[in-house]
Amino acid sequence: MPNYSFTDPDLPDGSVINSGNFTQANPNTEIMVGKTLTINGGNFVNVKAQPGWTINGGNWVQVSRCSHLHPKLLEKGLITECPTECSHMINKDEIYIDGELMDTMYTYNDIVVKNGYDILR
Ligand SMILES: [Zn+2]
Repeated sequence: MPNYSFTDPDLPDGSVINSGNFTQANPNTEIMVGKTLTINGGNFVNVKAQPGWTINGGNWVQVSRCSHLHPKLLEKGLITECPTECSHMINKDEIYIDGELMDTMYTYNDIVVKNGYDILR
């Protein structure tokens, strides 16, 4: 299964895609713009469906990724750095000893922006 993740692959017009990894870092990323494609399967996480594509399958979930959970994507400049208390924060635990704040523990989750099922016909 070819891995085209985080790139804009130059596939020939009229290609039929049955599998492969086309995952992008951020929701609604446009790749292969202007191509006529038939997509029967594959990983299209965060890819924005284009008008010239016939889509019969695949994983089209759109996910907002937290830089606290994906340091490698951040390092590569693929996602932007989140503030400490970002929109992905689901819990904050303050640790007190003798009434003094010693530490703060944060819990983060990636956010599913769109489940992607509405892309499939
Ligand atoms: Zn975040």
